[in-house]
Amino acid sequence: MSRFWSPFVKDLLPYVPGEQPKLANLVKLNTNENPFGPSPTALAAIKAELNDNLRLYPDPNGDLLKRAVADFYGVDTRQVFVGNGSDEVLAHVFHGLLQHDAPILFPDITYSFYPVYAGLYGISFTEVPLDGDFQINPRDYARPNGGIVIPNPNAPTGCLLSLAAVEEVLKISPDSVVVIDEAYIDFGGESAVSLINKYPNLLVTQTVSKGRSLAGLRVGLAMGDPSLIEALERIKDSFNSYPLDRLAIVGAAAAFADRDWFEHSRNAVIDGRQQLKTDLQALGFEVLPSAANFLFARHPHYDGKTLASKLRARGVVVRHFDRPRIDQFLRITIGTPEQHESLLTALAEAL
Ligand code: PMP
Repeated sequence: MSRFWSPFVKDLLPYVPGEQPKLANLVKLNTNENPFGPSPTALAAIKAELNDNLRLYPDPNGDLLKRAVADFYGVDTRQVFVGNGSDEVLAHVFHGLLQHDAPILFPDITYSFYPVYAGLYGISFTEVPLDGDFQINPRDYARPNGGIVIPNPNAPTGCLLSLAAVEEVLKISPDSVVVIDEAYIDFGGESAVSLINKYPNLLVTQTVSKGRSLAGLRVGLAMGDPSLIEALERIKDSFNSYPLDRLAIVGAAAAFADRDWFEHSRNAVIDGRQQLKTDLQALGFEVLPSAANFLFARHPHYDGKTLASKLRARGVVVRHFDRPRIDQFLRITIGTPEQHESLLTALAEAL
């Protein structure tokens, strides 16, 4: 800490991202990337954009991408916001849509960026406990005003809410902005985008990092009523009017257009998840039901932290959270069949 720091920065508690190890030969199953890679047409679009036009600023509105997203979901471009990863989109959401008098609500075991954004923007919050099976109970999210943030599926548990359960939250809290963070929706859940015309208080955020295997491109989006989108545009234009570079706009737009690759990729993840779940259960793990591209699993006889470090020593990186109630668990990203083999071999040695 330096004497030049503002008191505000001294008090910040930033998010700690998962490790991005430098060693290429590690089996990396710790930050929920999709191992099947981006659409070849998205890569071709990015390569084609590598030209002299890079001297020019990109389209500040990312219209090409908004059009591709609107076509994919059958919504209007005025219902789409795009930003630099859904982390940045969520930052704008917290900044511009969740500043109300009442504390906002989110689950107590959830994506740990939410309390960080709440701290950054001075928003008070109440954490709603999950039930005994680590599930979100929609009836716990009644709020007269203020905001509600629910990831669906939840992270790091992977548990899914049905569309009916999401609608229950919207019905019991019609005067709260309800943000459904669908970072992992592509792996088996039903998107709430189909409800945005019915509920003007619903905002759905998504990313190309997971289902479309483009985490390195940093593109996220939000969909909702044009009035909510307009608020996000205002915040964006007061912060960075060019959040998406030229490569990101064309690459993400092409990825949304390539439906075949998307289907192939997400189905490969879903198949891998089922196989890995069976294999982990055979080793004695309890595995929570997951609709995401990761499994949340614990072994009755082994401590999560110890297991994670034993795996790391054998070249396999998984995620462990030092938090009460979940510190027994490992969060394991769905990888390729070869990566699963390495994980299972390492586990057989470690257990
Ligand atoms: N929401 C959740 C629940 C996540 O787990 C993540 C990924 N860490 C994000 C949002 C952010 O994803 P990205 O910024 O890559 O779009």
